Amino acid sequence: MPVAQKIVQFIDRSSWIRAMFEAGAKLKAQVGPENVFDFSLGNPNLEPPEAFYEVMAKLAADRTPGLHAYMPNAGIPAVRAKVAAYLSGLHGVGFSAEEVIMTVGAGGALNAALKALVDPGANVVVPTPYFVEYDFYLDNHGGVVKRVATQADFGLDVDALAAAVDEKTCAVLINNPNNPTGTVYPESQIVALAQALTDAGQRRGRPVYLISDEPYRQLVYDGVEVPSIFKHYPHSILGTSFSKNLSLPGERIGYLAVHPQAADKGLLIAGMTLANRILGFVNAPAMMQLAVAELLDSAADVEQYATKRRLICQVLQEAGFEFTEPKGAFYAFPKSPVADDVAFVRAAQEENLLLVPGSGFMGPGYFRIAYCCSDQTIERSAGAFKRVRERF
Ligand code: PLP
Repeated sequence: MPVAQKIVQFIDRSSWIRAMFEAGAKLKAQVGPENVFDFSLGNPNLEPPEAFYEVMAKLAADRTPGLHAYMPNAGIPAVRAKVAAYLSGLHGVGFSAEEVIMTVGAGGALNAALKALVDPGANVVVPTPYFVEYDFYLDNHGGVVKRVATQADFGLDVDALAAAVDEKTCAVLINNPNNPTGTVYPESQIVALAQALTDAGQRRGRPVYLISDEPYRQLVYDGVEVPSIFKHYPHSILGTSFSKNLSLPGERIGYLAVHPQAADKGLLIAGMTLANRILGFVNAPAMMQLAVAELLDSAADVEQYATKRRLICQVLQEAGFEFTEPKGAFYAFPKSPVADDVAFVRAAQEENLLLVPGSGFMGPGYFRIAYCCSDQTIERSAGAFKRVRERF
């Protein structure tokens, strides 16, 4: 076969999103885009803030020699220094530029981190359900995901996570706020996890890194705050991006930050920096680095997402679905009215309602709604949600 068998299998495994995308395109052509309620993709529907366009106009006119040249693989030193200062203020932990690596989005950040940590056969412990790209990211580096169920409300089962740590575990990877559930792990759970990982590290005589994937950090509701991993655990690594809060997913810009007291910090950062280079990224895009350095304090219009969240919760409630109100990100994860979530999602499709089955996130029996779409789409979807609910 001309194409690697593994990638052929992966194409098949990742076919849910592709299937939804194709079904959506077909449906939109058949019945008109206004009659299709597409909740399948986590693509922010808000445009970037005005400040982004202003910074980009300034950068486009800048003729400083070397602005578009190769640079240190970890990124532009002045940008890293600004991110470090921002993180120091946010987390109350003193970061320096050396502890920040600019990356190609959060996906690039996680891949650089995993390449630096994972030896073939190693595992990373991940609470379920989760963003299943993690499976592919781990495989890129010869590692595997070790799945641990969350509690009924999708909160962390700290004891189970710590118990899953074995000799081959290089990290625990959490995503806060969470895709697909919209859960925000509270500070009490991060504190408990930090303690449990400290104990697990002592038990096996080697620390366990905690990686937190936080591209949705600024998208939180009802006054909820995302706790800091850095405040509570020294062996912490943050991977994040500007894809969701500044609506820049196509621009591929994010960063990694390593706790100043992390074990083997120098080697870890050197490994991640080299990984950034040899994964073929070389470095994060120069103009985007310079742009986001000016926008660290800018935020998405969270109020708009808060409105969408209120609307979708109302639609779900009125249709009679069982769900936990999401506290962050722009996803809801209601219970499927039948155990077979794939059958439910297929039925929804017949109502021109595009959802993703929980099984696609290792969370069978649920379905995911990405409500980062127009308010009208949410409001107009109410009838379709009711009809599909009544079918079960
Ligand atoms: N992590 C999670 C949980 C995500 O939901 C996404 C994108 O949807 C990513 C990482 C990748 O983000 P980026 O586009 O910044 O690479």
